[in-house]
Amino acid sequence: MMESEKVDNTRRAMRWGLTCDKGQCQEKIIKNGKEIVEVCKFKPTIKQVDEHTQNTESCHYYLQKYDALVSKHSLWNYHAFFQIMKFNKKLFEDYLNRKVSIFDEAHKIEDQIMQFIGFDIFNGQIDECNLNSGKYDFSDLDSMVQLIDDIAYSYAKKIKDIKENDSFQREPDYESITRLERRYDRAAQAKIDILTGKDNFVVNDPVRDLSGNFRSISVKPIDVSSFANSFFTTEYQIFMSATIDRFSFCENMGLIQDDVAFIDTPKSPFPLDNRRIDLLNIKRLSYGSTESDELEVIKVIDRIMDEHSGERGLILTSSVPRCQKILRYLSPKNTRRIRICHSYNQDGKTQDEIISEHASDPTGVLLSSSLWEGVDLKDDLSRFQIIAKVPYPNYKEKRTKAKMDKFPLWYTSQTLTKLLQGFGRSIRSENDWAKTYVLDTAVNNVFFKAQKMIPHAYYDVLGIENQ
Ligand code: SF4
Repeated sequence: MMESEKVDNTRRAMRWGLTCDKGQCQEKIIKNGKEIVEVCKFKPTIKQVDEHTQNTESCHYYLQKYDALVSKHSLWNYHAFFQIMKFNKKLFEDYLNRKVSIFDEAHKIEDQIMQFIGFDIFNGQIDECNLNSGKYDFSDLDSMVQLIDDIAYSYAKKIKDIKENDSFQREPDYESITRLERRYDRAAQAKIDILTGKDNFVVNDPVRDLSGNFRSISVKPIDVSSFANSFFTTEYQIFMSATIDRFSFCENMGLIQDDVAFIDTPKSPFPLDNRRIDLLNIKRLSYGSTESDELEVIKVIDRIMDEHSGERGLILTSSVPRCQKILRYLSPKNTRRIRICHSYNQDGKTQDEIISEHASDPTGVLLSSSLWEGVDLKDDLSRFQIIAKVPYPNYKEKRTKAKMDKFPLWYTSQTLTKLLQGFGRSIRSENDWAKTYVLDTAVNNVFFKAQKMIPHAYYDVLGIENQ
């Protein structure tokens, strides 16, 4: 970014395209034959922000980030905070010395940590590194470590070749060097992580396109507990969630149970009548369910939609194909009420766009396999919700299967958490209400296996007696 423009309205600035798309906050350049690091002239130092001596034209991104670090209390999204804890802890150690950290939505921490450990390899990356994907065995961890190593070597060689090239000496392209260095670092670090505990890593099946061509593959840790404590460093941590249980959470995060005080709220703050759940036990759905069982469940969905013909609602199921099947067999009048909503949609619409269309349709019904969490369908955005199928994690994914074999309780706890999160999508405050229907008989099995994990706040609505 060579110039800056002062605008008071940041939204308007974004519309005008006044963003920092170069994004090279600091880069290595060669000056007088020597490699030096040149820092963007708009980048403030944390010391300036701490002492309020920063320039008025300083970069907004760093002002915000450093302001959070120097403040007494600060609020972070997981990715930004974990990024610091993984890569810059030493650099900011003077500012990370806090007594307490609070982790909201704690049932999602494992997914967040997973983003920082392991490696995803894409087809484009293999091509960029001039490697032959046919040379590697995509079911073998050693072969994948070799591939990651070859990727790192290839990036290192590219960097060396570019730097030694005459045209680079005349007109250096620092942007591509920084990009390649970042890719090299990521691959080299992943190799170290994997080799320090090979038994703990698993290679998922490769994703292929419709013609069977390789698209991507991921190498992921089974157990994140040995990595988790590097993210939790304050004297006290408070983990908040309506859907975690003590044993499984401690096991997963590597916490010693005796070091943890667990507060299980005895009662839901929302009235029972506002959040009733009807376990209809229609059929047990699984990979091997018969067609007639599947259709019977869809018939009941149709009936419930008729009973709520003047209201908005939500239908949750376990996969995209199941969403399509439900849509195919509903009655025409109910089909017209449906909007399929995923985080990525075929027509390119975002989840928020679909939900705002839903909000202007007085009898609209969202159908999804991904809205189990993180969506807020308050008041008459949803007055009924149908759980068509219990959301078991996909055990056909190798990492899930390996984790399930090693930690059987994890699988049950993941299913329970998602189910309980689903129950909460349409009841967002004490005056809000919605009726929930569960159609899959398998829910009883989950509640039976997870009986010690169910938080007390759900006892009344699930008819469980307090012992
Ligand atoms: S410091 Fe800010 S303005 Fe400069 S390159 Fe980085 S993001 Fe852009």
